[in-house]
Amino acid sequence: MEELGANSQENGLTAALARRARRCLIGNYGERELALVRGDGVYVWDADGRRYLAFLSGIAVNVLGHCPRAVVEAVSRQVRTLIHVSNLYLIVPQIELAELLCGHSFEGARCFFCNSGTEANEAAIKLVRKYWYDRGEDRFEIISAEGSFHGRTLASVTATGQAKYRAGFGPLVPGFRYVPFNDVDALAEAVTERTAAVLLEPIQCEGGINIPDAGYLERVRELCDSKGGVLLVLDEVQTGNGRTGKLFAFQHTSITPDIVTVAKGLAGGLPIGAMIARTEIAASFGPGTHAATFGGNPLVCAAGVATLRELLKPGFMERVGELGRWFLELLREQVGGFSEVRDIRGQGFIVGVEVRGEPGEFVRRFRERGILVGSAGDRVVRFLPPLTAQREHIEAVVGAFRRILERC
Ligand SMILES: *Cc1c(COP(=O)(O)O)cnc(C)c1O
Repeated sequence: MEELGANSQENGLTAALARRARRCLIGNYGERELALVRGDGVYVWDADGRRYLAFLSGIAVNVLGHCPRAVVEAVSRQVRTLIHVSNLYLIVPQIELAELLCGHSFEGARCFFCNSGTEANEAAIKLVRKYWYDRGEDRFEIISAEGSFHGRTLASVTATGQAKYRAGFGPLVPGFRYVPFNDVDALAEAVTERTAAVLLEPIQCEGGINIPDAGYLERVRELCDSKGGVLLVLDEVQTGNGRTGKLFAFQHTSITPDIVTVAKGLAGGLPIGAMIARTEIAASFGPGTHAATFGGNPLVCAAGVATLRELLKPGFMERVGELGRWFLELLREQVGGFSEVRDIRGQGFIVGVEVRGEPGEFVRRFRERGILVGSAGDRVVRFLPPLTAQREHIEAVVGAFRRILERC
């Protein structure tokens, strides 16, 4: 494989863009040193013509890689046919996407569409409260996990079990509490007659690729059921869409959640969010209770249908599971012995390497070698390859990691 990003020219165009950005954009994303202007499959190119292997997938969004043919064609067709109409009307691609999600999630599922992961979680939080209200029960409290990430709206950031995301935004939304992740006993102690729901990521992604013990979700499910039907809400915004080798991560277990949220990769790069709920719970979102103007619009749903059809092709997600296991093995073999590497963990194409020192420093060194990766929490280098990545791409990334570590 050719050395990636080797044809380094000057940074002229990128530097000019950074100057313009500083004068017109709010600084909430910090300084950005790279302007990406084109993508094709597993590669992206910057404004100065350098090529990068995109192993973060726009943070788990570009599941089929950049500009995948199936999505480009579906969107091109739809954009000429009908872009937007509003949910005052039936929308054909919305129904098609809901049918696919219902058919591949759980019995009696119903979908609501919005535009992001945050909004999907916001919808879930509201639905949980409304469900218990409709039953005349004074249950409103939602328990989430320390180290979790659920989004940035006021309610979803309140649900997020990391103080750094909540700092400065008080007063927060009442009715949330946190327990350690992967600790059923702590959860059992926290549940009261006020508990409406437990909200969890099957794998904590932003929090550092934290994988619970086998049986954790099953025991949480049992606990919820034994405490008067506490709802179990799974945030699969990052773990969904085939990323772990199944369409939803909970499908690696024997449980059925009451509500699941998805977003990120669901429409292959277009902005979308979805909340999937059991029919009986979904009934609490009656006419007029909740809405999103753009939610489930024809264009994004056409992209979603095209994306899901690709993910659901025979063998597609199985390959992600197998290659993900191989990725972990290769990492253990080639970088596991370095003293800077503390742990290697993951499932499917969610892979984290816990390092000594700043993960951001590794992210920068990968970028110098023409590879885009990310960090998760303050100790983990995060790899989220497009689900279409091949062995040779994984080999290139692990090889680059080894060379970076050799020079540490
Ligand atoms: C990214 C993410 C969110 C927030 O999604 P947005 O689309 O950024 O609003 C929520 N939950 C999890 C687990 C995520 O990874």
